[in-house]
Amino acid sequence: MQKRDLLYEGKAKRLFTTDDDNLLIAEFKDDLTAFNGEKHDTEAGKGALNNRISTELFKLLESKGIPTHYVDTPDENHMLVKKVEIILIEVVVRNIATGSLSKRLGIEDGTKLPFTLVEFYYKRDDLNDPIINDEHCLILDLVRHEGDLEELKRLGREINVILKSFFADKGLNLVDFKVEFGYDREGNILLADEISPDSCRFWDMESGEKLDKDRFRQGLGGVKVAYEEVLKRILGENK
Ligand code: ADP
Ligand code: UDP
Repeated sequence: MQKRDLLYEGKAKRLFTTDDDNLLIAEFKDDLTAFNGEKHDTEAGKGALNNRISTELFKLLESKGIPTHYVDTPDENHMLVKKVEIILIEVVVRNIATGSLSKRLGIEDGTKLPFTLVEFYYKRDDLNDPIINDEHCLILDLVRHEGDLEELKRLGREINVILKSFFADKGLNLVDFKVEFGYDREGNILLADEISPDSCRFWDMESGEKLDKDRFRQGLGGVKVAYEEVLKRILGENK
C-alpha cells in the first residue's frame, strides 16, 4: 500500500491517504512534545519504537476482543490503519495518581487509587484539552449516541484490565494512559491512534523508575533507553 496525500500532520505522527479509501497510513515521527507543544525535541528512533510498541499492543488487544483500527505494520515507521472519524474525547484511565490528577486535586503523587478512574478530556489543543464530563460531551455533540459515552468508559476499563495484567507480568506498573476512539465506515467504535510510552505511564515495579514520556516532560534524560526497555519487556524479556 502506497502513501498518497498528506492528510494531517500532528505533533507525533503524519497521516496519509492510500489507494484504498478506507485505509490510512500513519507515519510515526521522532518528535517529542510536552505541555501542549511548548516543549519540543527530537529523539532519533523514537517513532520506530512507538510504532513497534503500538503494533504489539494493538495485536494483544485485538486478540482479547477489543476492536481496533490496526491493519498492518509495513515498515519501521509506518502503520496501516482503518480510517475513522476521531471522537474528540481523550479517554484517560488511571490506576495511580500522578500528573494532572495529583496537581488538580492535591492527591499525593504515587497514591494507588481505590478504583480505576476514567476521565474525559476535550481533544482541543487551542483550549489546552480541558477535562469534561458526560453532559459537556453531549452539549458539544462529541458522540453520535448518548450510550457511546458509557461504551467509551467500558472500553477504557477493559483495555486497562488487559494491559495492566500484561505489564504486571513484565514487572511494570501501568500507572495511567490516554486512548482515542473513532467511528469506522459502518459506525462501529474502534480504538485508534497509538498506545505507547508517549501516551501511557509505566513505572518499574521494583525500582519505581519512570519508563515513559515523563522522562522528557521532567527532563530526566534517557528517553530512548526507557522506550527500548518497554519494548524489550513487551517482547517477553521479563524481569
Ligand atoms: P496530535 O494531533 O495530538 O498532534 P498525532 O501527531 O499523534 O497527535 O496525530 C495523529 C492524529 O491522527 C491524531 O489527531 C489522531 O486523533 C488521528 N488519528 C489516529 N488514528 C486515526 C485513524 N485511524 N483515522 C483517522 N485519524 C486518526
Ligand atoms: N496523555 C496523553 N496526551 C495528552 C494528555 C495526556 O497521552 O494530551 C496521557 C499521559 O501520557 C498520561 C495520561 O494521559 O499517561 C494522563 O495524563 P495527565 O492528565 O496526568 O497529564 P499530564 O500530567 O501529562 O499533563
